[in-house]
Amino acid sequence: MLVLGLESSCDETAAAIVDDSRRILSHRLATQEEAHRPYGGVVPEIAARAHVEKLIPLVEGALADAKLSLADVDAIAATAGPGLIGGVMVGLVTGKALALATGKPLVAINHLEGHALSPRLADASLEFPYALLLVSGGHCQLLEVRGPGDYRRIATTIDDAVGEAFDKTAKLLGLGFPGGPAVEQAALKGDPFAVPLPRPLLGSPEPHFSFAGLKSAVLRARDAGIHRAEDIAASFTQAVIDCLLDRTARGLRRMEAPRALVVAGGVAANSAIRRALETLAGEQGLRFIAPPGWLCTDNAAMIAWAGIERHRLGWDDPLDFVARARWPLDPSAEKARGAGV
Ligand code: ATP
Ligand code: MG
Ligand code: FE
Repeated sequence: MLVLGLESSCDETAAAIVDDSRRILSHRLATQEEAHRPYGGVVPEIAARAHVEKLIPLVEGALADAKLSLADVDAIAATAGPGLIGGVMVGLVTGKALALATGKPLVAINHLEGHALSPRLADASLEFPYALLLVSGGHCQLLEVRGPGDYRRIATTIDDAVGEAFDKTAKLLGLGFPGGPAVEQAALKGDPFAVPLPRPLLGSPEPHFSFAGLKSAVLRARDAGIHRAEDIAASFTQAVIDCLLDRTARGLRRMEAPRALVVAGGVAANSAIRRALETLAGEQGLRFIAPPGWLCTDNAAMIAWAGIERHRLGWDDPLDFVARARWPLDPSAEKARGAGV
């Protein structure tokens, strides 16, 4: 089974072809970093226009790399949300058009499910259920992944996403855009215990996360004018690690018998965070699985893989599927607690 995946929910445009034996036949990606850099963040209108320009050439490139034509694929999987709605619409409409023109089924993919199932593309031995720490630009959640479309949210952030905290810290410290990798590089040259920073919610009984206070503390540390940016970056990263470990350990107690502790999403590309979580998993007697860095940040291989997981269950979608700016993996948790928590 071959699936073509399309991704366009933020500032990466991507196309990939994956088969059901986990072979990534091709993957192409165009990042819009240069276009957004002058603004220090992603500008939705610029992003949507760039997706329009880049997506079709990327699809053609991915097909050429795999030496395939559209007639060879079994289904077309496109991100249908959540994300910047203009970009999501570009990818979903492109997927619909390709599906209509070829008669192939469309699989509308939740971008977060793409991240959530990406560890199963990376590791064939990973079985359900598993504990997933989803740490990305827009999310910080601990989920019990029970199967495709079957998620139980254990915890979420009550304010900022963790990737957002990295991006804001990078901006405050003048480290550039995109923020996560810049903070990671600077942190390598800093002392993680040089700057006293808070650990929001550490030890609190509910396993939720919070990063807004940490960001404000970074601002104060910078304005104090006595710390090197590298030391602030390293101390910030250490504070994030301490919070992620404490909160994840707390949340794991609320899961029955996860087969593994898994991390996914863009922030999972951070080596220090991966090492710390691997240690935590060891302490908890759990296997630890993290996809390679490129599969953690936005890409189309994870969308194609989620397409395979759904298509093989017969879960194709109608061509009038509507793009969604918001689309939680566990809607019952959002309803029960209200937006945000
Ligand atoms: P979401 O998936 O929640 O919709 P998104 O798609 O924008 O959001 P991703 O592409 O999954 O997010 O992740 C991007 C985020 O990951 C950014 O906030 C970025 O700063 C962060 N990030 C990327 N690499 C690293 C790194 N090496 N260290 C820390 N953070 C990183
Ligand atoms: Mg990006
Ligand atoms: Fe993402």
